[in-house]
Parts: sequence; structure tokens; C-alpha cells
Amino acid sequence: MIEILTPAELDRARDSGALVAEILQALRSRAAIGTNLLEINEWARVLIIEAGATSCYVDYEPSFGRGPFGHYICTAVNDAVLHGKPHDYTLADGDLLTLDLAVTLRGIAADAAISFIVGDARPAESVTLIETTERALAAGIAAAGPGARIGDLSHAIGSVLSEAGFAVNTEFGGHGIGSTMHQDPHVPNTGRPGRGYVLRPGLLLALEPWAMVDTDRLVTDADGWTLRSATGCRTAHSEHTIAITEDGAEIITVPSPVRD
Ligand code: MG
Repeated sequence: MIEILTPAELDRARDSGALVAEILQALRSRAAIGTNLLEINEWARVLIIEAGATSCYVDYEPSFGRGPFGHYICTAVNDAVLHGKPHDYTLADGDLLTLDLAVTLRGIAADAAISFIVGDARPAESVTLIETTERALAAGIAAAGPGARIGDLSHAIGSVLSEAGFAVNTEFGGHGIGSTMHQDPHVPNTGRPGRGYVLRPGLLLALEPWAMVDTDRLVTDADGWTLRSATGCRTAHSEHTIAITEDGAEIITVPSPVRD
């Protein structure tokens, strides 16, 4: 099912998106060398509850995970890229950390992810990976708007990833979002322009390019959730939720100026 939100629901989506962005920003500023992933999960739990929101993850039990996720945020380090289950791990200088967060506020979900390097080290490979997924995300957003097709977004995202030399995995990509976190349409991270569902005002989409240095294959961690690169190489992931409006595409997972 594809949901088209009313203008009132879109306003609520903007609040959900701002909350996700603000929590991610707060967690990014607090995550440092010596921070444990379980601490990040606890900070996320408190910030979500304080805001009167609910986690989309805690009870989430999809076919691709083992049992309810049980945590409030995905934390993926280095070779871990998607669905990273927080565990007892202490961050070190140069770790590439991805935080992926989805919450529901007043009935509407928003979803975003950021990758960044912990500490002062700046390994060139990690910098390139992160910068490429961010550029792919920007290209996907630039291709979005009323009348555009899903294939246009997928093509824009995939072109940036492949031109940077990364093989594109099509098992996991972006998705529609609204009253629940994962909805149709699926937004693969590669595709052909001019194909697929035609975007309409009121549609919410989560776009999420991700990349691995030297493989397109994933392996599942012993925790039944965390997806890692098959070769152990580093990975990155960037995600925003966008709203299709009459005028174009609006990124909703940005901090709200009203809240500051
Ligand atoms: Mg998502």
C-alpha cells in the first residue's frame, strides 16, 4: 500500500523528521572515543521518550531479523552497515559509525541515518565512503518531485555510487514511510530512469544509499540482525526522509528552527 499524506499529516511528519534529526545530532555530538554502543542506545531511549515519541525499532520483528530488535537505534561500526544491533563495544579513534533512527510522533514516522568518523583520525577510505553516500543521497533528493518516477531517483543514487567505484547491492534500499516505518514503494539504490511509480504530493519517502568499499555482498552477524560487508571492508550509509510537495521534494529530517 502507498500512503498519500494530507497537509495536516505532512505537518506532523515535519515534527517527526525534526525530532529524528535533532536526536541524531545530539548523539553525534556525544559519541566519542570511549563511548559504548549501549550508552548511545540508552541516550536515544531517553531522548525519544522525553519527546513523547515512540521507537519504530524496539518491537520491530521483520522477516529479515531474528525476533524483536529490542533497541532504540541502529549502531553500525566499520564493516557493519545496516540494522546494527547495539552491543557492548567501546568506540575507538577512527571507527566509522553509522546511526540509523526512526521514531513515530503523533502517528507519523520519520527515518534518517548518518555516518561519521569517531575521534580525530580521518582514514581516506572512510572519508570517501561517507562523502559518496551523502552525494548519492543528495542526487536522489534532487531527482525527486511530483511527476518524477522511482526509477529516476534510483538511477540518480546508483550513478553516484557506481561512478565512485562502488558495487550497488539491491537487497536493501529506500522505502515509503508514513503511519508505519516501512511501506511501498521500494526505492532501490540503482535503477532505470523513467520506470516505476510516479511520485505525487503527499508521498513520504526514505532514501538511503549505502556503500561498501570492495564488495556488494552482505553477511548476517551472529546476533541475527547486524548486516556486515562479506569481506570485512568498511561501509557507510546516509538517509533522509523527504516529502513530495507541489513544488518539489522537501527534506523533513532536518532540525526545526522553531525548536531551537
Ligand atoms: Mg530507512
